[in-house]
Amino acid sequence: MSEHSEGCIFCRIIAGEFGTSFVAETDDVVAFDDVSPQAPTHILVVPRRHVASVRELVRDDDRLWGEMLEVANRAALERGLADSGYRLVTNSGPDSGQEVFHLHMHVMGGSKLGRLG
Ligand code: AMP
Repeated sequence: MSEHSEGCIFCRIIAGEFGTSFVAETDDVVAFDDVSPQAPTHILVVPRRHVASVRELVRDDDRLWGEMLEVANRAALERGLADSGYRLVTNSGPDSGQEVFHLHMHVMGGSKLGRLG
């Protein structure tokens, strides 16, 4: 699997093509604001390595997934959501509505969120 995927919008953001500022970052993961927020705070947590979706993750990716959780929690803390709470969502495949095929975790909060489903 290549590190970057040609034409992938998140790979381009991670490469710094648009000067996007990161809410939080580690060696392997970045967090940035969603361009079309569905909540007052809506951040995306994205591995620097191109992975199409959570479906591609295997047990040996536990460190990457853990790092994504760490960055999600850090971004939520940075935006003042630690006490009010937040939702983490990862879409995978057509029925979930996944639109960008570079693995990402949504971090949403800042108001009372509707029930899932
Ligand atoms: P999903 O439906 O889970 O694939 O979510 C993709 C998310 O990426 C959506 O919430 C979009 O608003 C967001 N998105 C798409 N393009 C960009 C972009 N250039 N910068 C930031 N967020 C984006």
